[in-house]
Amino acid sequence: MSSQSSNRLPDSPITRLPDSCDVAVVGAGAAGLATAIFARRVLPSHSIVVLEGAKKPGAKILISGGGRCNVTNSEVTDADFWGGRRTIVRQILRALPAAETIAWFREMGVPLHEEAGGKLFPNTNRARDVVDALVAGVAAAGVPIVANCRVLEAVREAGGFRVTTSRGTLDARVLVLATGGRSLPKSGSDGAGYAVAEHLGHGIVATTPGLVPFTLGGSNPYHQDLAGVSHDVELTIWAQDAVAIRLRGALLWTHFGISGPVALDASRHWARARLLGHDTRVTVNFCPGQSFDDLDRRLARLPHDRPKGSIHGTIATLVPASVATLLLREVGVEPSGELSHLSRDHRRRIVHALTEWTLEVSDTRGYNYAEVTAGGVALTDIDPSTMRSRICPGLYLVGEILDVDGRVGGFNFQWAWSSAFVAARGLSTDRRL
Ligand SMILES: Cc1cc2nc3c(=O)[nH]c(=O)nc-3n(C[C@H](O)[C@H](O)[C@H](O)COP(=O)(O)OP(=O)(O)OC[C@H]3O[C@@H](n4cnc5c(N)ncnc54)[C@H](O)[C@@H]3O)c2cc1C
Repeated sequence: MSSQSSNRLPDSPITRLPDSCDVAVVGAGAAGLATAIFARRVLPSHSIVVLEGAKKPGAKILISGGGRCNVTNSEVTDADFWGGRRTIVRQILRALPAAETIAWFREMGVPLHEEAGGKLFPNTNRARDVVDALVAGVAAAGVPIVANCRVLEAVREAGGFRVTTSRGTLDARVLVLATGGRSLPKSGSDGAGYAVAEHLGHGIVATTPGLVPFTLGGSNPYHQDLAGVSHDVELTIWAQDAVAIRLRGALLWTHFGISGPVALDASRHWARARLLGHDTRVTVNFCPGQSFDDLDRRLARLPHDRPKGSIHGTIATLVPASVATLLLREVGVEPSGELSHLSRDHRRRIVHALTEWTLEVSDTRGYNYAEVTAGGVALTDIDPSTMRSRICPGLYLVGEILDVDGRVGGFNFQWAWSSAFVAARGLSTDRRL
């Protein structure tokens, strides 16, 4: 494939809806665009069409990674994902590993560079370049993208599918559903694809927002005083008094509650527990890796080392000063007091606040702020060597519509690229084509 970085096509070559085609890909997001490109490699002379409900393709890519698009991660394993069966996720990821994704983007004229946590971004730091390269790749493959063309229904019939769209009907021998989930519905991914999949016989694992900030309630909106502060913590989601997940990473306080990678990663676990009707609790250990006893021993020793040290000054060596101020206020300990005068009871109160602080989570911010959707079409409904539906012959499913969601770090796009690659492999051996 030749470099297409300078090939600045309009976002979508809006095309008339054909009456029929061999392969109809529904959705021009990451998974759909990649499917079109990979499919052309294995089907050089078949007619392939991409149907996109929104005005332009790749809307979500454009705003991803803060406008920089975290394309993938240097290390991707099934352990970076939640949802359906790990073994299935592993098989699909292995078909197009991160190293090959990086090479593919380089071939498309989008070299990537690595940042903290193995995150890979375009060297230009522009998500726009990712969209342009993919759209140019689809155009170079001779695959039309029919924009403003929302698929309303797909019915299985002899010889393929009759697809009803907002721009008329189309007959397709095979259909690839790449309609994404419900996150950020204004981008075009509003969950309509689930109804199409359901109509074609699939069960949908109930969906919840994922990678979404939490809102904090309660009568004391102390988080507003901390807005903008970010620090490393350990966050625990409790369901029915058992640990559902414990994660470590950066927490960002905001005017509405909490965000940052650790909160985003934890959110799907909270939402899933709530979906199951479980009692949930969210606690923070502000001194990750340290237990109550560890920290209590450490604080008990400190007055010998720094007899004149203030309580606030000491706690501020463990957490940001503003968090220290807040915690001392909440546990009712005078911050200017001397450490050597700290009573055992007050010390234990502080240690408890530092290691198991309960956040009054009222909710997540919902799909409008979620980066991903947890739940979707069950992975057991697809053959992981082809992405073919086991339920509906001739149907393929790729990307976020499936019951898989990755953590923060480029994993969700890698899922889109890998599943698209596998679908093309399936198309190459499809007897219907
Ligand atoms: C703000 C934000 C930032 C993100 N940042 C990152 C990041 O940096 N790295 C990362 O890995 N992931 C990131 N993600 C997640 C990532 O964007 C998604 O997981 C990924 O885009 C999913 O790709 P997809 O093609 O399966 O679905 P989508 O990108 O959602 O694409 C689906 C497409 O199908 C179209 N469609 C839907 N229904 C129909 C229909 N009925 N008819 C026709 N077309 C239809 C939609 O309009 C859309 O264009 C981010 C998400 C958000 C919201």
